[in-house]
Amino acid sequence: MIEFKQVSKIYPNGVIGLDNINLTIEKGEFVVIVGLSGAGKSTFLRSINRLHEISTGEIIIDNTSITRAKGRQLLTIRRDIGMIFQSFNLVKRSTVIRNVLAGRVGYHSTIRTILGLFPPEDKELAMRALERVNIIDKAYTRSDQLSGGQQQRVSIARALAQEAKIILADEPVASLDPLTTVQVLEDLKTINVELGITLVVNLHSIELARQYATRIVGLQDGRVVFDGPVEQATDER
Ligand code: ADP
Ligand code: ADP
Repeated sequence: MIEFKQVSKIYPNGVIGLDNINLTIEKGEFVVIVGLSGAGKSTFLRSINRLHEISTGEIIIDNTSITRAKGRQLLTIRRDIGMIFQSFNLVKRSTVIRNVLAGRVGYHSTIRTILGLFPPEDKELAMRALERVNIIDKAYTRSDQLSGGQQQRVSIARALAQEAKIILADEPVASLDPLTTVQVLEDLKTINVELGITLVVNLHSIELARQYATRIVGLQDGRVVFDGPVEQATDER
């Protein structure tokens, strides 16, 4: 589903973000990327949906090279990839349902979505997504009136409404309290198991990684220093 072939990313200032990464992530995996601050976790994640260009190598998504994709083809690949951020990235003044509908933008012409014209099927999808993350009662609440955990569940719902096959989450629980952290990770686990969505999640905590991942990838200085099933990931790494 996601294949890294000799991928390196060197930033314009010469800092090496990723150093010759080779790995394959299969459909349905729940991969957690761990590593100290600066290890390359964000760089790894942002390379997958080409939020930035890699310097060398190639990334294949579902048998298509996102590295070489152009124009429409790039947009089509990106539709399959949802993204969740530490800071939620919701439109604060918009309602929850509006934010979830934003996941449908890639399926329509720009003018319709600027006007906020989404077909009824989209609203149906959005409501079902909100139901799945147990927040449907907030559909018409302004996003900035929700707690952090609720906002993060809205951003999960947005990725679900997008019908993403892959969800990338960059430190999705870093700004949440312990209880909310568990709720958000449980929601991610549920969509992974029930919908078969492939998850690639950056986490600080190896403890949480062990609890939720099917596979842990450890990064250090842009290199893979550990890659294996959860049972083999020990504290020494
Ligand atoms: P992590 O997510 O594990 O904290 P990052 O992927 O953010 O690590 O960073 C990896 C390395 O790349 C770090 O040394 C960081 O300072 C550097 N880096 C990240 N983004 C940029 C950037 N836009 N320009 C230059 N260097 C960057
Ligand atoms: P992270 O949360 O992944 O550790 P930071 O908070 O350090 O990342 O970085 C926030 C932003 O600054 C990101 O957009 C990243 O690309 C950029 N950045 C990080 N390190 C550097 C750097 N050394 N030079 C330039 N930009 C950087």
